[in-house]
Amino acid sequence: MTKVNIPTFKLNNGRNIPALGYGTWLGLDDKLQFLSQDVPKMVEAMSHAIDVGYRHIDTAHLYRVEPEVGQVVNKKIEEGVASREDFFVTTKVWQHNHSPAGVEASVRASLRRMKLEYLDLVLMHWPMAISEDGVDEKIDYLDTWRGFESVLDQGLARAIGVSNFNVQQLTRLVEGARVRPAVNQVELNLNLGQADLVSYCQGQGIVVVAYSPFGTMVPSRSYEGSPEPKLDNPTMVAIGKKYGKTVTQVALRYLFQRGIVSIPKTNTKSRVVENASIFDFELSPLDVAELAKFDNGFRTVRPVFWQNYENYPFEKIPLDPVPAIPESLKKWKNGINGDIK
Ligand code: NDP
Repeated sequence: MTKVNIPTFKLNNGRNIPALGYGTWLGLDDKLQFLSQDVPKMVEAMSHAIDVGYRHIDTAHLYRVEPEVGQVVNKKIEEGVASREDFFVTTKVWQHNHSPAGVEASVRASLRRMKLEYLDLVLMHWPMAISEDGVDEKIDYLDTWRGFESVLDQGLARAIGVSNFNVQQLTRLVEGARVRPAVNQVELNLNLGQADLVSYCQGQGIVVVAYSPFGTMVPSRSYEGSPEPKLDNPTMVAIGKKYGKTVTQVALRYLFQRGIVSIPKTNTKSRVVENASIFDFELSPLDVAELAKFDNGFRTVRPVFWQNYENYPFEKIPLDPVPAIPESLKKWKNGINGDIK
């Protein structure tokens, strides 16, 4: 079996975070329903990922798969593939649970679903506080952060952080927090370079984690009119050829050389190894400069249905009417059968 060797970055709590993790968001279908039929494939691919050397798993309450993630991690611990200390498990608190007490209840529920005693990292999934009925609860994320500091104090999590925070929100949080966030997890890829956000975070000792690291490059995400680079982009193909790497490996390596963790999602076993085989080559400064030219500020993840809620972190776009929040992002149960609270 081909093994991978994934290096780590240092968090501001002194612990290490593997520079590449396994993403577990399976997404919604064209009717905006959760793709639960993909769960068995994900379980198999994640299991394979751990066997070949992945230790960092990225999940969330929203993803519904915490029960399966916990089963795989615990099975690998039982099999002696890795110990709990070797793993780096991240989950996230959804917008429904932004009161400080709600944060603790959400983290305890995640631990129960995963049958784990602690998490390595817990993130505030979004800065907005929105109820299950779609009501803007307008809870200040500084108050929500008190709940995060409390779960850290109680040892339920070893590190706490945020996701989808912009520079202004993060600056306010850093100034008002007792414990500085360890991580900001945001969309980052060749189209969305986020230079200001990355520079702010790295200057403050906050590790940046890239979600959707391929942007619209991969076939499942590209569409007519979606921006370059696609998998057959001549510049990308030429750079890949030079190093004997695939275009997707070049995209991930570029993030790593910027000091950014990435968490690509794949249900395909061969891609599990491919995505983590990026630590044995170095892009030259000229190639890095060439790759930087693809940055055009394009967002793959743009949840416009939240754009009128307080603390929405991205630029709003003119829309009338603004679409409603998909029901599947408002209420759900967890696990492949959708029967776990
Ligand atoms: P990714 O950029 O990881 O893209 C996933 C897609 O790329 C899948 O269709 C996958 O297909 C395909 N793919 C993966 N590897 C390759 C490869 N080597 N060659 C070709 N295609 C490939 O996007 P995600 O949006 O899933 O982001 C990754 C993770 O980030 C999520 O799973 C989740 O954990 C996290 N996330 C966090 C968010 C947040 O708000 N904090 C928001 C969105 C994601 P296949 O599976 O068929 O192989």
